[in-house]
Amino acid sequence: MSQLQSQAGGDAAGAPKPMLIDGQWVAAGDAFASVNPANGRQNHLIGAASAADVDAAVASSLKAVRDPRWRDMLAHQRAALLRRIADGIEANAETFARLQMAENGKVWAECKTQAASAAATFRYYAGVCETLCADVTPARGNYLSMTRYEPYGVVACITPWNSPLTMEAQKVAPALAAGNAVVLKPSEVTSSPALELGRVALQAGLPPGLLNVVTGLGGTVGKRLVEHPDVRMVSFTGGTASGRAIAKAAAEKLIPVALELGGKSPHIVFEDADLDAAVEGVIGGIFEGSGQSCVAGSRLYVQRGIAQAFLEKLVARASRIRVGMPEAQGSQMGPIASFAHRDKIEAMVAGARAQGCEVLLGAARPQDEALQAGAFYLPTILGGLARDAHVVQEEIFGPVLCALPFDDEDDLLAQANDSVYGLASGIWTRDYPRALRVAARLEAGTVWINTYKQLSISTPFGGYKQSGIGREKGIPGLRLYQQSKGIYLGMPA
Ligand code: NAD
Repeated sequence: MSQLQSQAGGDAAGAPKPMLIDGQWVAAGDAFASVNPANGRQNHLIGAASAADVDAAVASSLKAVRDPRWRDMLAHQRAALLRRIADGIEANAETFARLQMAENGKVWAECKTQAASAAATFRYYAGVCETLCADVTPARGNYLSMTRYEPYGVVACITPWNSPLTMEAQKVAPALAAGNAVVLKPSEVTSSPALELGRVALQAGLPPGLLNVVTGLGGTVGKRLVEHPDVRMVSFTGGTASGRAIAKAAAEKLIPVALELGGKSPHIVFEDADLDAAVEGVIGGIFEGSGQSCVAGSRLYVQRGIAQAFLEKLVARASRIRVGMPEAQGSQMGPIASFAHRDKIEAMVAGARAQGCEVLLGAARPQDEALQAGAFYLPTILGGLARDAHVVQEEIFGPVLCALPFDDEDDLLAQANDSVYGLASGIWTRDYPRALRVAARLEAGTVWINTYKQLSISTPFGGYKQSGIGREKGIPGLRLYQQSKGIYLGMPA
């Protein structure tokens, strides 16, 4: 490992961005390119960590988490540090947003919102950190019994590319608030926001080693990190296949994992719904972020009596979505985050067409000359699908909505729950008893009623079935990073 420079940035001559290990900016021996999906140009090079770099990061985190200055730091002092990190994110919000936009192509307004929400997440966990109590438990004899909540030690946080600002704050803030040290491995598609978070945290006074950032591929760097004997907990957000591999590796070491995985969320419109509001909800639910959202409402179930009229309204509205360069004012949908992922989406839609589905909208790249160099794909709505069609069952993670009719509640629930996933769902109806009845029977970690994608850091979030294990956000989102210890204090007779 050689030290390259003292800030997260790479340089104009094209040197790869260094990693953050033990408070130092460290050059990797190898590198890979970050490509802007809006124009196909190289953004910069990113260092690819070696096994020795991963080991050094974990060793540094282990040293830092055992250091009495961190181990014995009082909760309100840890909270103050988290607030200073929040201040740093706010002060650098434009930089965070710009880095994310260049690497995953999200539109500027969404990137700005996600930077603000990352700061809010650090503030929220600062509050939780200094207000959460240990417990005195009911004694069954002559003793005082207590439960203390303690950190695991070194936690590996592994994140995807679709919303790195949000995901990284959602993991790093509670893991630190809980008293751990973190080794963060961002997606190879979006490494820069994590490196920037490392820089901001250092500047805020977080002692070296408490947040190390190693960059590189999942199958090498991520795998090494998960398998490292000194990593005592893994918090992962990403695809279900990667999550399964990580869970197997964690089982081998007998360490806990939190998994936030894929989804194929049903979005349901009953005949009595406010149809204009439902159209807006369904549009935002699938096309925001070009459909690259774990909670995207990608299966639309419309009650048969209104199906045709609703789909006509929906198609008319979706055809007005402005697909454009992410930084351009007025763009509502940017590119897909990578060319390889755009090709995968295209291939899945082509497969559905080959099986005879009906294309109600899109299923093509835009014609606009200005978008030809980017990984763009138009908002797409497919109908005439079999319930077990590949595109109805598999996560596409793109701007593709599969529309299906339903007859009544039983038919709806049979279809909506016919999925290996169970992340989120949405219901549009004016009949609240029905909404609550259906919500209770949906196999999903989140149910939205007459709204969609409403998210709050204080509400626990996670998946049923193959959409994950554990709950992030809220108070459970901090407890995720702690283990409890029972203490019994004997009393004199
Ligand atoms: P991915 O699984 O390919 O990669 C996610 C991260 O895991 C990356 O950092 C990658 O390098 C790393 N990784 C991959 N294999 C690994 C391994 N064997 N060991 C350790 N690390 C490994 O996912 P992606 O393509 O980056 O993201 C898209 C997926 O993420 C979608 O399926 C989406 O639904 C899911 N996602 C879920 C949530 C949620 O909260 N449930 C949120 C966002 C995204």
